[in-house]
Amino acid sequence: MKSTEGTFQSVWTLGEQRDGRISPVSYELLAWGRDLADKRGTTLASVILGYNLKDRVNTLIEHGADIIYVVDNPALEHAYPDAHAAVLEKLVREFLPEIFIASATTYGRTIMPVLAAKLETGLTADCTGLDIDPETGLLIQTRPAIGGNVMATIKTPKHRPQMSTVRPRSRKPLASDASRKGQVIVRECPDDAYASKVKFLEFIKDETTALPIQEAEIVVSGGKGLKDAKNFQMVHELADLLGASVGASRQAVDLGWIPYSHQVGLSGKTVSPHLYVCAGVSGAVQHIAGMSSADIVVAINNDPDAPIFRVCDFGIVGDAIEIIPILIEKLQSQKATSPK
Ligand SMILES: Cc1cc2nc3c(=O)[nH]c(=O)nc-3n(C[C@H](O)[C@H](O)[C@H](O)COP(=O)(O)OP(=O)(O)OC[C@H]3O[C@@H](n4cnc5c(N)ncnc54)[C@H](O)[C@@H]3O)c2cc1C
Repeated sequence: MKSTEGTFQSVWTLGEQRDGRISPVSYELLAWGRDLADKRGTTLASVILGYNLKDRVNTLIEHGADIIYVVDNPALEHAYPDAHAAVLEKLVREFLPEIFIASATTYGRTIMPVLAAKLETGLTADCTGLDIDPETGLLIQTRPAIGGNVMATIKTPKHRPQMSTVRPRSRKPLASDASRKGQVIVRECPDDAYASKVKFLEFIKDETTALPIQEAEIVVSGGKGLKDAKNFQMVHELADLLGASVGASRQAVDLGWIPYSHQVGLSGKTVSPHLYVCAGVSGAVQHIAGMSSADIVVAINNDPDAPIFRVCDFGIVGDAIEIIPILIEKLQSQKATSPK
């Protein structure tokens, strides 16, 4: 849509749910949205599609939304891209938001390009930062480019809405405030909007990891410095003892030591845990791009000049294959002696 086609206002976020439960990424997105809406002096709305969720959306208001648009219909229970994008298109054309952001999850990455194409506007995928240009009021969309070596700043000056997907875990949610008040608007759409060519067969859960690395409070990652797959088992053992999820560098994934779903970094997942422990990881920019928002970083590397030491809070210079077993032993003995 051309920016001259109407009066575009308000910031929208795309809420996510599974089985009627609001996904935590929806709250992270609201933290971004709140900043943008306040800077633009406008309202923040969250739009959420699904089935049986009308009564569960108030938490979005508690996390910063002023308005919730809900479309609650059995046809939207599963994330069929054609139906979800068609419904979103109708809402956008009716309410004309100036900014519409989504999380760069499988859902956001699938729906937003279809929607942007339908609306004939731009979409900046996988942003790590969003802001408002104080002079023009335009959305400033920042994302790594050229293999993570530069940060590109992208604007959408002539089309609306300005659309982006933002990396999950790139922002902490605002504290929940049960006293916040907002408006819930439940919409229905004409039947043709719900039509889909996709048929749901079954949902198969990824059983390779207890908690996805993006959601973990502690992540223990291994890199090529662990030398072989057998040694990588130590990373799993250390993670188990810490109640952590296992991450990996791209080299470790490429060597087949662990599936891609565990890769941390530019072409993998962004994590934002309280504690990030990595062993045998050099600290390439593309890896750092995925873990730089961790609160505390502990690095084990035998090269004192490894770049990872420039971003860690605690560095251990030494052979990870000797150091990890020591850590495992210490944790085991601490567990054995600590009161139940
Ligand atoms: C477009 C693009 C996207 C990319 N995306 C990602 C990404 O998402 N994630 C990612 O991780 N990488 C990514 N990469 C690759 C990245 O550039 C690096 O090649 C990769 O991160 C290196 O992995 P590594 O640290 O395990 O291996 P290396 O760089 O080989 O480092 C191994 C480290 O282990 C240390 N070491 C060796 N032996 C020991 C030992 N016994 N004990 C302790 N330390 C030891 C070495 O000193 C070294 O620092 C990407 C690259 C490109 C071009």
